[in-house]
Amino acid sequence: MLRPHIVAGNWKMHKGIEEAEAFVRGLERTLDSPDRSGLAELLEEDLLEVLVYPTALCIHSCLISRSTEMVKIGAQNGHWEEKGAYTGEISISALIKEGCDYVLIGHSERRTLFGETDEQVAKKVASVEALGGKAMVCVGELLSQRESGETFNVVRSQVEQALGGRSSDFVAQRLAIAYEPVWAIGTGKTASAQDAQEVCSYIREVVRSLMPNAADSVRVLYGGSVKVDNTFDILKERDIDGLLVGGASLDLEGFTGILNEA
Ligand code: PGA
Repeated sequence: MLRPHIVAGNWKMHKGIEEAEAFVRGLERTLDSPDRSGLAELLEEDLLEVLVYPTALCIHSCLISRSTEMVKIGAQNGHWEEKGAYTGEISISALIKEGCDYVLIGHSERRTLFGETDEQVAKKVASVEALGGKAMVCVGELLSQRESGETFNVVRSQVEQALGGRSSDFVAQRLAIAYEPVWAIGTGKTASAQDAQEVCSYIREVVRSLMPNAADSVRVLYGGSVKVDNTFDILKERDIDGLLVGGASLDLEGFTGILNEA
């Protein structure tokens, strides 16, 4: 089954407003240039989504600096409540009203550095569904969990909790799951394409067991030290429908190199 692919850049806590705007404009120009007409065609036919996640500070300026919607803009995090006494937070509701195309949920840095729990992840996903937005949920095991053979259990539990109570239409059309083994993030160590495929295929089977109608449509991405050199090998795997790129998405040339390979 041909699922529309997603290539997303997670900028984490990098780039100020000017740099972020210049990147988005530069990326638009690249996607629109005649020598990359293959990419423009894929975008027009909705077979590819190109997305960046700037910091919250830069979302608005990235959104308004676009001249088309070829480049989608997402938020790295959001709160499930619409408003209230939550110092330092931004609501998913405000992000979606502002025009954010995706909300990234449960990135391992949120889970390990800021104590985000599966329960909070589930509330955020529910909020995105209720508000009509799109979510990208990250799951993945720690190195110690991989070494003790717990990868599948960890990932299954994360997926089950994130999707619990959601409709299969939402999961099929507006949710992507990014498999990011924590030991591969920012370390230069990538899961082999076969290992990534094995877990991504398992994730699809977990979705099938929960909501059979969504399993063949839900997008499953890989993330963790993706670069130009490993893009092709990873994306040729059957159950991998795109990439979540951290470090290599910060530089326009590097990111467009990955898009070309994709
Ligand atoms: P990385 O980050 O590509 O720098 O490993 C991936 C991510 O954190 O999403």
